[in-house]
Amino acid sequence: MFAKRITPALLAALAFIATATPPVLTAQTGSVSPVAPKKEQVQAAVREAYEKFRSDTGGKNADYIPYLAQVDSKLFGIAIVTTNNDSLTMGDVNYSFSIQSISKVFTLALAMKELGADKVFDKVGSEPTGRPFNSPIAVVDMTTHSGNPFVNAGAIATTSLISGKDETEKWNKILDFYSKAAGEKLSLIDEVYKSEAATNTGNKALSYLLAKYDRIYADPFESVDIYTKQCSVGVNALQLARMGATLANNGKNPATGEQVISPEDIPHILSTMAMAGLYDGSGGWAWHVGLPSKSGVGGGILSIVPGKGAIAVFAPPLDEAGNSVKAQKVIDYVSEKLNYNLFSPSSVGFK
Ligand code: GLU
Repeated sequence: MFAKRITPALLAALAFIATATPPVLTAQTGSVSPVAPKKEQVQAAVREAYEKFRSDTGGKNADYIPYLAQVDSKLFGIAIVTTNNDSLTMGDVNYSFSIQSISKVFTLALAMKELGADKVFDKVGSEPTGRPFNSPIAVVDMTTHSGNPFVNAGAIATTSLISGKDETEKWNKILDFYSKAAGEKLSLIDEVYKSEAATNTGNKALSYLLAKYDRIYADPFESVDIYTKQCSVGVNALQLARMGATLANNGKNPATGEQVISPEDIPHILSTMAMAGLYDGSGGWAWHVGLPSKSGVGGGILSIVPGKGAIAVFAPPLDEAGNSVKAQKVIDYVSEKLNYNLFSPSSVGFK
């Protein structure tokens, strides 16, 4: 009876499925994404981007945190980790740099895990500010005051939501959470922390301004101190890409199998990254690249390709908005080559 239904067209389709090369980038669920690029295509795109941009001299290291001004501006590393834990690296991928603002993504995830997404949204907000990331004017002007979890004011407010009996317990909880997302133990770069703690008067001012509007939820200076520590956590490009792959994999670390972030929180995190991940360059980034991303003034950018993987690029010189020049170029190039733009019909397999 079954045999009667096998038509020549069905036989041809079965033969095609049997001979097609299986895509390498797969979802953790085991379902193969029909639009995922093959490993060789990913390797070629990363190699080309590395060669094309390695001599780019655009941008300048951040210097308002004295330590960052001294980092070798030629350092350049690229890492991709997929949701089935394949990884691909190029360049200076063992160098540990400070995660800086990319930490804001993971503190947001922890706050949502503790309080639920709605409460975090109520207490911090999610609107892009259209102003520089450390703007006190945005705090005064915006109805939420805190703006969103990825500008400094909103990030300090988010950090202030993390529970704990004292500062040490709160800080250890954050560091432990980041380590779970990375799949290995991360630690503070003490020199970065000291350098930033000695110069963070602007962030202290933001925390007191938030207190004026009742938009900070623990002691303001304690919250700034924990925030400064979270920004000073050291990561290399591979560790950062694995943190991103945890987001891409619905919150489950593809290396350890641990469910670190609640799956229902992932869309909130990724949409916030898409709206506000690259400071006041976020609109242009969504327009051209179309990937939820977060940058840090340490020179890192992390971009997420939901269900497929994450790319992390490290190169210290920044543009005016505070985003790594080379990292933006690499991710733009790789994303274009591999059809990663989320807003593109070919990315989601319509063609
Ligand atoms: N720790 C930095 C600051 O508060 C983070 C800024 C960033 O990476 O955007 O200024």
